[in-house]
Amino acid sequence: MKSVIKFFLFRIAYYLGFWRLVYLVSSAMTEKKFLVVFTYHRIADSKQTAGYYLGYDRGLDKEDFKAQIESIIKYFDIIDLDKYIDVLTGEANLKKHSALITFDDADSEFIDHAQPVLEKAGCPSVVFTPTGYIDTDMRFWHLLVSNSFNKMTSDLWAKIGNDTDNVPEKIKVLLQRELPIDERGKAGLCQNIVNELNNYKHPIIDDIVDRFEKATGKEYDLGIRCLSWDDHRTLAGQGVRFESHGVSHNKLEELEPTEVEKEFIESKHELEKQLDTTVTSICYPAGSFNDSVVEQARKAGYEIGFTTQPGISDYPLSGSDLYTLPRLSIYGDDKYEINFYLGKILIKMVLHGRI
Ligand SMILES: [Zn+2]
Repeated sequence: MKSVIKFFLFRIAYYLGFWRLVYLVSSAMTEKKFLVVFTYHRIADSKQTAGYYLGYDRGLDKEDFKAQIESIIKYFDIIDLDKYIDVLTGEANLKKHSALITFDDADSEFIDHAQPVLEKAGCPSVVFTPTGYIDTDMRFWHLLVSNSFNKMTSDLWAKIGNDTDNVPEKIKVLLQRELPIDERGKAGLCQNIVNELNNYKHPIIDDIVDRFEKATGKEYDLGIRCLSWDDHRTLAGQGVRFESHGVSHNKLEELEPTEVEKEFIESKHELEKQLDTTVTSICYPAGSFNDSVVEQARKAGYEIGFTTQPGISDYPLSGSDLYTLPRLSIYGDDKYEINFYLGKILIKMVLHGRI
């Protein structure tokens, strides 16, 4: 029922131009121009990804992405990373509400489904690359879970559930459930396991992935991968900025300081060597950071650091505030929903100064 109301509410508001009105009113109420960072992950063709088990794997459909970019450029000036840093550090100002468009994880579909839309709309963008995954066999752990789930049978699943020594209780409960026969049920269980595993540290995640791979085999045929270095060079030639997302994509809070230093320095050097560029920003993998991580990012030569904390940062900023920048993740599926979302951001910005 709630979703039916939403469906009509979004469409009525869209056709009445309600969000345009919100934009005009909010602009009239405050002199301050807002600086927003939007976050995307995987943009894909939903006809090809409908059968995938995880939301991440299905990604955001390319047509919905196109509708979102069309909506965003109505409300915001899309700026590049250099301008963004200049505004943050007080060296430049904004004439309009402005936005930086970012993509985490350097998914290979970016080249086919995101860049053509961005290029056509004249939008600069930033992609955060986890360098250890480029042109190697390394895969994100959640992709290994869904890869195994693709090959899971009831017998293999029962075997995993029968041997749960040293498995944390909450994961054990999930592993001992019956494997659903229908694809939707399987997708739900796979997503629940990934969500739960996300709360644990890497040795536990790796142990569960290992159990799955022992049961189903290690062969990776999910088809989801990162952009190659050649793709990076092609896109860099079209003006896409590639910045650091670490090497291993492991949560930095869980690593020793020497390992964090290695993640920061190696990923920066690798990107600079491969793309003949200067890397100025770091996006903390899985949004994991603390005071010591922030201090190390500064020491490693980064000018700014992005988190996954939702919000809109004030500007100008200085000191450690430059290394804890909030962003807004967009998951809205179509232009009706995105207009509602953007209107909501504008209202909140006016009412509270930030969200
Ligand atoms: Zn990431």
